[in-house]
Amino acid sequence: MGSFLRLVTLLKNYKLPLALHMMSNLLMALFTVFSLPAIIPFFQLFLNQELSQPVRPEEPFAFSNADEYLKFHFLSWLDGMEQAEAMLMMCFIIIALFFLKNFFHYMALFFLAPVRNGVVHDLRSMLFDRILAMPVSYFDDKQKGDLMSRFSMDVMEVENSILKSLEKAVREPLLVVGSLLFMLYISPGLTLFVFILILVTALIIGGISQQLKKKSTIVQQTLGRLLSFVEESISGIKVVKAFRAEGFLQGRFREVNKYYKYVLNRVLWRRDLSSPLSEFMGITVVCMLFYVGAQSVFRGEISSEAFLAFLLAFFYIINPSKNFANAYYSIQKGMAGLQRIEDLLLAPDHMPEKGNPAPFKELKKGIRLENVTFEYNGAERAAINNVSLEVKAGTTTALVGRSGSGKSTLADLVARFYDVSSGRILMDGVDVRDLKLSDLRKMMAVVSQEPVLFNDTIKNNIIFGYGEASMEAVERAAKMANAHDFIMETSDGYESGVGDRGNLLSGGQKQRIALARAILRDPPLLILDEATSALDSESEKLVQKALEEVMRGRTSIVVAHRLSTIKNADQIAVLSEGELVEAGSHNELMDKRGEYYKFINLQSLSDSD
Ligand code: ADP
Ligand code: MG
Repeated sequence: MGSFLRLVTLLKNYKLPLALHMMSNLLMALFTVFSLPAIIPFFQLFLNQELSQPVRPEEPFAFSNADEYLKFHFLSWLDGMEQAEAMLMMCFIIIALFFLKNFFHYMALFFLAPVRNGVVHDLRSMLFDRILAMPVSYFDDKQKGDLMSRFSMDVMEVENSILKSLEKAVREPLLVVGSLLFMLYISPGLTLFVFILILVTALIIGGISQQLKKKSTIVQQTLGRLLSFVEESISGIKVVKAFRAEGFLQGRFREVNKYYKYVLNRVLWRRDLSSPLSEFMGITVVCMLFYVGAQSVFRGEISSEAFLAFLLAFFYIINPSKNFANAYYSIQKGMAGLQRIEDLLLAPDHMPEKGNPAPFKELKKGIRLENVTFEYNGAERAAINNVSLEVKAGTTTALVGRSGSGKSTLADLVARFYDVSSGRILMDGVDVRDLKLSDLRKMMAVVSQEPVLFNDTIKNNIIFGYGEASMEAVERAAKMANAHDFIMETSDGYESGVGDRGNLLSGGQKQRIALARAILRDPPLLILDEATSALDSESEKLVQKALEEVMRGRTSIVVAHRLSTIKNADQIAVLSEGELVEAGSHNELMDKRGEYYKFINLQSLSDSD
């Protein structure tokens, strides 16, 4: 129920259309209920061939006998008319009432549309903002397809199930209450009887819908798994084919797909029960009512035309009740989707920002890591274990170690993609957790092993949100990254598209664009994580020169495998299984003949330098 209340708070941005919607709904209900008394004389004329005589009420006009006056004036008006003429008049009145009823029905829907679409639009925006705001660790153990299905399926579910039903949930009770009042006016005894029957029906239907919400959650989760599967298979299609893993993937996919079918069947079976069940129960109630009502008519307690109008009013209750029951079912189903959306929207922020962070504009002294330990979520052992390291401003530190030793993790910690499990990382003596995240990120540029490009032009991928960079600056950065030449060879130069995730470019080309992106920003702190690993040795040499140029006098943390880069670094930090085993300059470490010495000897075998 909590999430339903929060949905209602989303509605408060749409007060005006919502108010107009409610008003139209109210008018529609009003005209629906008003059409009932108008039908009594119609039946009278039909059954008795004549109308009853108008009788002026004895008491003066008051609110309590307004209906008697209404009836009196109505009958007086029809009194002077011929039978056929009176019939015609009544037809017109009924047509007019139904026109108004349906006009306001349309108006209600008309004003609901902007509310529905607005809420869904807001939800989608909030979800996207939230995804961008989530810390990197949030995505480590999440399936992409699951997040995607929250965007598409769950939002759709909220729209189709909740917002669509909202209209019914408001209008139908109005109709039910109006019709009930009319029925009470005709015969309180019969109404009480009907009321009890309806209550029993509602309880039965309500009982069945209990399970629906739970099942719907499972359905959406399973769909998320399915989508993840498809997403992974498409991005890995080459590997799938090369290793002939089609059969393996098909098998796994079929399993999930089959389970999806299974749970979906159960949900549909339950949901589809609502309509036939309520119709069956409805007709049972009608027959019972017929039987009991007919006794009253035979005994002369109520007139036959009043009983017919009563029945009509009852039919006005059946449909709205049925709709209301369906709306209730739908809302239950949609709540499951809403819950999943809220799981994301309300997920605890693992990277909280301090209230009044100190401004941070340049790196003057340097970075200090103090006893830094870090474990990934659910990992058995620490990826970084008690590392202390000093990186002086304006110097280059190379991180060296076997793959899996924790180099990337350490770089990610400095960039605060993750927060340390214990220990501290200080920038000019201030804990990174006390800095404004956007200040910290503005200070640095990161180039990772896997260059990430977005489906846009080369130029936009280099600028990538960096304000109004001039074309000259972009070209200068591209030249330094040794990317200008190949860019000019593409059909549209800087305006060429790079394809989905940059798949129209080679790995080396992507990496050079990612480098140009970092160079353009001219950041005080540069973090390069194997930023040249995808380049052939020819372009690597060229880029390397440019990078050395860029790194000169700049604080840099570089994960590299090229001996020349490592040698030239002011400081080399050697990691092994998450621990810092050695640190110092190339010569110092070579003299030590420890881990670094072994590492370099192994590298030299494969390195031409
Ligand atoms: P390197 O960059 O030196 O090759 P990493 O820093 O990438 O090493 O990895 C260090 C350790 O952390 C490895 O044991 C790796 O399995 C683990 N690891 C890396 N990324 C994650 C992650 N997102 N979740 C859990 N464990 C991870
Ligand atoms: Mg790495």
